[in-house]
Amino acid sequence: MAIDTRKILHAVMEGSRIRDSKGIIPLFGVYLSLFSVEYYNKISFDFEKKMGQERAGQAEALLIKAAQECGYATFQGIRSSWEWEQLVAPMIESKEDQVHGFCALAMAFGWGDMEIKALIPGEQLVIRVRDSYEADGYLKRYARADSGKCYMLRGVTAAFMGLVYGEDYPDGCFSFSAAEMLCRAKGDSYCEFVARKSSQPYSA
Ligand SMILES: [Zn+2]
Repeated sequence: MAIDTRKILHAVMEGSRIRDSKGIIPLFGVYLSLFSVEYYNKISFDFEKKMGQERAGQAEALLIKAAQECGYATFQGIRSSWEWEQLVAPMIESKEDQVHGFCALAMAFGWGDMEIKALIPGEQLVIRVRDSYEADGYLKRYARADSGKCYMLRGVTAAFMGLVYGEDYPDGCFSFSAAEMLCRAKGDSYCEFVARKSSQPYSA
């Protein structure tokens, strides 16, 4: 059985009605929070700008690392949850289905319309996103970028591969790393992320 994205979306929509007064949503074994993407973008890009031109590379690396660790730990919690066991696990026939399940959940969380363009087991994952809120946010605030600006999705793409094909949790977090080959913030028509084993260099 293939992963039924609609079924997962409906489960998240139903479940997300339950939230406490602070907006915390207990769902799929983790605590999610309602968060303004404007605010996230402001913190993220202001941090990068404040770090200055000289340390831009460091700022970018830190933001990607934070997203990768967050995605890795969050989706480990999710795939260990009762809801995953009940809803998603019965649809999983292969390791690759797990990656599809992760993407369906990430879409349901509002992280972007993540479309898997290629998945080579244990080797490579290519995810295309047409509506990245980071690219939108960047373009709203600044002029066109000269490099990819979707640090969250970039870290998350690598985290998905680390969870499925890396060493056992928690040792596989950085076993893959991702590049953003195309980004709307730099004028491309969509954003595209490629995760490969960390030791392998990127090429288009
Ligand atoms: Zn982008």
